[in-house]
Amino acid sequence: MGVKISTVKEKSTGNEITVKDCEKGHDGEYICKTDGCNAHMSFVKAHEKRRLDKTIEIPSFFKLKSNDKHAYKVCPYNTKGAVEIIARDSDSNVLKAIENEKYQFNLQVLHKDKNTQEKITEANSKTSADEFSAQKGKVYTRSGTASSYIKTLTQVLTLRAQLEDNKELASLVTLTYKNTKIKWSNFYFEIDSYIDAFEIAKNSAIHYPMCFHGVISKVVDSSKKFKYAKFKLHSPYIELEGESTDIPSLEFIIADDSLDLNAFSAGAEVLIYGVIKVSSGDWVPPEQRGLEEPKSIRFLNMSAWVNHAEQVTKL
Ligand SMILES: [Zn+2]
Repeated sequence: MGVKISTVKEKSTGNEITVKDCEKGHDGEYICKTDGCNAHMSFVKAHEKRRLDKTIEIPSFFKLKSNDKHAYKVCPYNTKGAVEIIARDSDSNVLKAIENEKYQFNLQVLHKDKNTQEKITEANSKTSADEFSAQKGKVYTRSGTASSYIKTLTQVLTLRAQLEDNKELASLVTLTYKNTKIKWSNFYFEIDSYIDAFEIAKNSAIHYPMCFHGVISKVVDSSKKFKYAKFKLHSPYIELEGESTDIPSLEFIIADDSLDLNAFSAGAEVLIYGVIKVSSGDWVPPEQRGLEEPKSIRFLNMSAWVNHAEQVTKL
């Protein structure tokens, strides 16, 4: 999706131009608004994207022209500079400097917090077997290295969300989990790669946390049946073909009271990470029922527990 910058400078005059100006028809050549950074920017007009349940609107923004870069040490949008700033303030056990101005980020599944774990187990005693087994996902503790880990991870992920793809960050930051290198493409998922996440979570020998960038489709309130609220993310729109079509489906169970649910609603763009549990189920859409050759959907369900409010970042 790229950095969603809403103001730039006109190259010829240096005048500030906003997305509103361009929406009204302003046309020209644009550069980054940071003084001394002459990165070329282009206007991306608001457009619609079809999702499984509905069509959502992506608002207008300016993006960096391909192959251009924001000026290093001058512009806050420069990726290398941004990583250096994150690393400077981070615990070196979390984001470790390695050779050639590169960094290693050690993904962690932190030790279970006893209190939280007990609370969840108790609360789940009345829920279905499925949801009970899902809660066995790792619980992150709030103390010590955990909080510095979460802080740095959130900063790195927010930076990633601002970039077009994994490439630039992958060249600067290597991800590891228990000494195993994890590819960015096996860790960070946009809507077009949710299916890959399912396959990886299903087949991976190690269960490390994964991060998802997406838009909330629904906030499901807690109920008598299930005492935690859930965030569901929009699934991609995939044309039904043949007998059965795979469609990924993501939900996050909110087990941290300190997460302000009022701040989230359908349409919110978020980053959420956690250890994914997978299952799948077939479903025939109503309009296909009764047809001679109904096309069904196989939902590739992924769910994760949000035990810490910090696992969710609103963009
Ligand atoms: Zn710039």
